[in-house]
Amino acid sequence: MKKGKRGVNTICTHIGELEDKTFKGAVSPLYMSTSYDYEDVDIKRYPRYFNTPNQEALCLKIAALEHTESALIFGSGMAAVSTSLLAFLSKGDHLVVPRQIYGGAYNLIVEEFPKYGIEFTFIDGTAVADFESAIQPNTRILYLETPSNPLLTITDLSAIGALARSKGLTTLIDNTFASPVNQNPADFGIDIIIHSATKYMGGHSDICAGAVAGSKAHIDRIFQLAKNLGGSLSDYTVWLLERSIKTMGLRVRAQNENALELSRFLNAHPDIDKVYYPGLEDHPGHDIAKAQMQGFGGMLSFELAPEVDQHTFMRSLKWVKVSMSLAGVESTLLAPSETSHALLRPEERLKTGIRDGLIRFSTGIEEIEDLKADLAQALENSKNLKAEALTKI
Ligand SMILES: *Cc1c(COP(=O)(O)O)cnc(C)c1O
Repeated sequence: MKKGKRGVNTICTHIGELEDKTFKGAVSPLYMSTSYDYEDVDIKRYPRYFNTPNQEALCLKIAALEHTESALIFGSGMAAVSTSLLAFLSKGDHLVVPRQIYGGAYNLIVEEFPKYGIEFTFIDGTAVADFESAIQPNTRILYLETPSNPLLTITDLSAIGALARSKGLTTLIDNTFASPVNQNPADFGIDIIIHSATKYMGGHSDICAGAVAGSKAHIDRIFQLAKNLGGSLSDYTVWLLERSIKTMGLRVRAQNENALELSRFLNAHPDIDKVYYPGLEDHPGHDIAKAQMQGFGGMLSFELAPEVDQHTFMRSLKWVKVSMSLAGVESTLLAPSETSHALLRPEERLKTGIRDGLIRFSTGIEEIEDLKADLAQALENSKNLKAEALTKI
């Protein structure tokens, strides 16, 4: 626990609750009004001003979770990403960003930013020196993701924070993969923390939302643009998200434990060529991850050995679902070569480190022995099929 801060589970359960003064119920009442009186009130409330009672209450919880002064919630993770970036970038400004970021953020930059005259440099590495060497006189923002998608590379948050301060730049991080349970970038000098709340905050694969946390001044600047762009979250979903976050600490810690155990199991498995998980001692970012994360997260990636048929493997799993998304209580997986990176040619994919047999795995909260048994039988099954097919030729 950090100085004077409450523990994660206490924040998840209590902070920002609305009191039910009428009936004394245990949970926050849901106020669905889109229409509020504007006379004799302190605050003129309207959903797109991000200030309905439920919106404000949830923002208090998210700010407390990220150890920041303030927060805003959005209709999606991409609404949070786009509004935050555009709030700090004008025509002629420049942004430094790793090539290996969430596909939606990558598309936003390459498809939209040229229209606004915003310049950008994609860096191939994720080390601090890679960021530093791309800084130009008109650079305003360093944007990062750690752990990154899908290879779970780690960037040193303190070093990025220090670099940005020395150059007068603003830092934005997509903290979705870690969740606020495992990583609080504000403690390491990062300015603005973005989440796709669709992932670990929602946690049950049934909510689409986004969040941004930072200082009052930074969040106010984002709000000034947000009210014009209009990406606020409806109050019913706000209320559901508050309910979901109550168990986020429990879920994510269970996912951390399962992912660490699974990564060790897969690392020792003869049909797996390579495992990418920052919790493994031989991961190149392990020491930095240990210094800046409370847990190594629920996401891992692995490469199937050549004798394993990828499609058969994915379809042979009993508990693990094939899914485009991640971070639910159920374990899911996807093949980046067929989804997020499908549009790249195989040799381009390889350049970004993504092999065809690469699987991105989102660990759920199932019993670890059931997960291990499921993966073991699916590997065995898909290997045999391939061997049979080969002997027939
Ligand atoms: C899903 C995701 C997003 C985008 O969030 P949406 O809620 O889908 O808009 C951004 N960053 C990361 C790392 C994600 O996984």
